[in-house]
Amino acid sequence: MPFVIDLQGQTVVVTGGNRGIGLAISEAVAGAGANVAILYRSHPKAQEAAEEVAKKFGVQVKAYQCDVGDDELVKKTLKQAQDDLGQITGLVANAGVSVVKPATELTKDDFRYVYDTNVLGVFNTAKAAAQLWIESGYKKGSIIINSSMSSQIYNQKGLNDPLTQVFYNSSKGAVTNLGKCLAAEWAPHGIRVNILEPGFCNTEQTSGMDQKIRDYQANTVPLGRFSEPHEQAEPCILLLSDKSSYMTGSVIRPDGGATIW
Ligand code: NDP
Repeated sequence: MPFVIDLQGQTVVVTGGNRGIGLAISEAVAGAGANVAILYRSHPKAQEAAEEVAKKFGVQVKAYQCDVGDDELVKKTLKQAQDDLGQITGLVANAGVSVVKPATELTKDDFRYVYDTNVLGVFNTAKAAAQLWIESGYKKGSIIINSSMSSQIYNQKGLNDPLTQVFYNSSKGAVTNLGKCLAAEWAPHGIRVNILEPGFCNTEQTSGMDQKIRDYQANTVPLGRFSEPHEQAEPCILLLSDKSSYMTGSVIRPDGGATIW
């Protein structure tokens, strides 16, 4: 028998699923046969992105404007998505933002902006999904938290060198740990929570990098290059499927070997 991952009959929520790594995840999920609920913040072309994925893969894909930092709206949106698309079976909490400034210039508002999406936003969506599953007795929910390799290494020559990303990197450390705590707490409900820690990836987040810094960064990665969004998305399909039924609290690092040392 060939090893095939089939997500037909499932519905997966992808936050930030309208562009970048999130869009690649939406496409991979749709390609595996599942319906997709995309949550986005404000991008004017999010609806178009959803329509294109639906057309390309012949599944239902809907985009919902929903700031993941707003817990009530997240709860309402997940219920709406379930009514529209069928039983939610998986969540990829992918939406993330950064503020790039020297630490001495970072403000309380910068902190809230980054942590409201990268930590509280992940918690809000995970909690809303878990509540739906626990209340209905659905025992096979799979949650993937998109953290970053920067959860564990200090990115000294960081994305926009010489400026650093203190709040971003620390929020990713927090959210990796949050994922492990949720994995332990929700295991008795059959809910699996795994963490993705991507390395550099060619998206809008990295498009502003100076070429010299990009080359420097690529050279620090054993595989010698940045990843493409699909290389982050494909491991998510395994984690959403029954083929990873004994994995929870795991950290998967598609980082080209950047964190070997
Ligand atoms: P992008 O900047 O390309 O896209 C960010 C996405 O998140 C957009 O869809 C955006 O919606 C959505 N979003 C942001 N804030 C919110 C919010 N409050 N509520 C709902 N949606 C929101 O990001 P990437 O694709 O580069 O990154 C995706 C994830 O991967 C992030 O968590 C990032 O930290 C992580 N990552 C990325 C790496 C990289 O090199 N690119 C490396 C390691 C980790 P909208 O379009 O409406 O603005």
